[in-house]
Amino acid sequence: MMKNINIRLKLSVIIFISIIPWIMLFSLPVLDGQIWFFSVGEGDAIYIQTRQGNRILIDGGPDNTILSKLSSRIPWWDKHIDLVIVTHYHEDHIAGLIQVLEQYQVGRIILPQSDYQSPVRDVMLGFIDKKQISNTTYEKQDLIKSGGAELRCLWQESNTTDPNEGAYIFLLNMNQFKYLLTSDVEFTNFSQKMLTSEIGDIDLIKVPHQGSKNSLNQIVLDTIKPELAIISVGKNNYGHPNQDMIDLLGKNNILVYRTDKDGDIMINTINMIQRVSKYK
Ligand SMILES: [Zn+2]
Repeated sequence: MMKNINIRLKLSVIIFISIIPWIMLFSLPVLDGQIWFFSVGEGDAIYIQTRQGNRILIDGGPDNTILSKLSSRIPWWDKHIDLVIVTHYHEDHIAGLIQVLEQYQVGRIILPQSDYQSPVRDVMLGFIDKKQISNTTYEKQDLIKSGGAELRCLWQESNTTDPNEGAYIFLLNMNQFKYLLTSDVEFTNFSQKMLTSEIGDIDLIKVPHQGSKNSLNQIVLDTIKPELAIISVGKNNYGHPNQDMIDLLGKNNILVYRTDKDGDIMINTINMIQRVSKYK
């Protein structure tokens, strides 16, 4: 009997000790918000943890890779995500979200206005329905406030057959910096007009559409003047990112980070200076 008690005691001490690093890891204060550009292959998944601890996920990449990325940021005992944003219904942005919706409690989800049809989209909408997740669409200029972060919807266009053209663009204001999250919206004539009046100087741009040939141009860069650029890209047959685009960013002295080469990229600020960390 005594032996059993001793074993139980030892076991509970061992379990407690092994939990301590986890508790410490997840209890560390997040002094400023963090933005993670996860390396999820050819696609996008952006995770924001605000200063006040709110969790926001923008797109979920092409497969289940997103689950291991999230579990490295969110403790296993707390499966809550405050907000999920679906920028458009292409598979490389939403396929990973299906498992996320199944395994996490999502407070609210923002969906595209597009009626683009695909089997993956149907499965995702089925989960939203089944779990009765509060969902809505957004209009240009709508503002989301969440735990100290502000996301302003700068673009969504339902009057197009191309889901990339219609995707959401959000301007994230956090840590007193401005981050332009462009999804797959290439800055062609279609979307370029709104730049001059509505965006102004920004600090960081998530380069549209895996750095495709027409993702950005000199006129856009002259207008928004980013210092940092993130390209979310993986192995592909499309020639992403386009070499001319890389050259253009270099010519404009913009520091470029790529998820295929740099792994997960985390942006935070210390004493009002932006810090970029890479995790391969
Ligand atoms: Zn797309």
